[in-house]
Amino acid sequence: MNTEQLLAYDRNYLWHPYTSTVDPLPVYPVASARGVIITLADGRELVDGMSSWWAAIHGYNHPVLNEAAHRQLEQMSHIMFGGLTHEPAVSLATKLIPLLPPGLDKLFYADSGSVAVEVAMKMAIQYWQLRGKKEKRAFAAIRSGYHGDTWHAMSVCDPVTGMHGLFAGSLPVQYFLPQPAVRFCDTWNEQDTLPLERLLEEEGDKIAALILEPVVQGAGGMYFYHPQYLRKARELCTRHGVLLIFDEIATGFGRTGKLFAAGHAGIAPDIMCIGKVLTGGYLTLSATITTTPIADTICSGEARCFMHGPTFMGNPLACAIAAASVELLLQSGWEHKVKAIEKQLQTELAPAATYPHVQEVRVLGAIGVIEMKEPVDMAVIQQLFVAEGIWIRPFGKLVYLMPPYVITQAELSTLTTGMLRVLNKIHR
Ligand code: PMP
Repeated sequence: MNTEQLLAYDRNYLWHPYTSTVDPLPVYPVASARGVIITLADGRELVDGMSSWWAAIHGYNHPVLNEAAHRQLEQMSHIMFGGLTHEPAVSLATKLIPLLPPGLDKLFYADSGSVAVEVAMKMAIQYWQLRGKKEKRAFAAIRSGYHGDTWHAMSVCDPVTGMHGLFAGSLPVQYFLPQPAVRFCDTWNEQDTLPLERLLEEEGDKIAALILEPVVQGAGGMYFYHPQYLRKARELCTRHGVLLIFDEIATGFGRTGKLFAAGHAGIAPDIMCIGKVLTGGYLTLSATITTTPIADTICSGEARCFMHGPTFMGNPLACAIAAASVELLLQSGWEHKVKAIEKQLQTELAPAATYPHVQEVRVLGAIGVIEMKEPVDMAVIQQLFVAEGIWIRPFGKLVYLMPPYVITQAELSTLTTGMLRVLNKIHR
């Protein structure tokens, strides 16, 4: 199949994420990727600013991860996890659990970020049932949050920018709190958690858990809020008997400057979800982790177990790569790398703050965001980025960078200068 045939078939038969089949946006055929360079089928090379939706922190085609994959393939790529166990699943857990906030020591492997969120929500419901509080079955969430595209994950995404409108009447109705107003670097104001306090006081007996993305709200708005919100949420949830779920699927493994965003607040949730970076962006794998008391309560009922068990649970190939990826991260000097990326993004994106069509520029860790005043035309801007030799995929008003941590200073400059040039161009 030549490239034209491939594109024609793709256009006629394949669905891409959030894309129309009637009038699909253009797609670019990729031949290969290595390090931070994506090579298109026509030979053009793009510097990657997205880490494949924030997952490929070590870059593509990494020899250490390739080696881990090859080694595991020779043993088995998959084996059921029901009644069987294996070294990759155990080895990964031994590496992960000591890195997590204290107390989180019962780990459930799942297939994707969205499924990890479903698992967390099911855990919370089963927990309260067994505590004799069946009426605690709703969730509290924060506006502008994003937790995935599956059913209950969708119900806790932002009710306006999420898909609530489309599925109104079918989705469970949850409690939504205003987006925290105090920014990451601003002075804390106690007013910020008053709506949460009021909600838990008034409706706490109906709420199983509060779910949120700690410090960085990702796909819902690329927004950075004050870690004191989390400390306060921890305190209020404990006081009102509501579980606290941290969705660290986007923030985990160093992206915000701490290994987990919970580290900015120095607190531990009751349940935590991780995914994306877990396998260094190689394969889909996620995990939901809770405490022993919560796990033991869940398993104390008539069913004697947690009611979930995906076919590909604890997939050995994914676990082996994930174990190698975690090891690689810990040895990589990631903290220094992320700090350097943060500094460079701050310096090099700053000029955009003066552009008339730019609302705001913000940077935290290895995340650089330019919020526009109006949504960008995706088809147009994407083409301009590709012409600049950079891969950036904006959404709505947000044009942002989340590069692999292995990016060099020069490659990051290629991304920032290209990005600013394109934003200048679309304005004219
Ligand atoms: N939670 C958060 C915070 C996310 O950013 C995402 C993915 N963007 C998800 C959940 C869903 O993960 P997945 O796409 O792997 O289902």
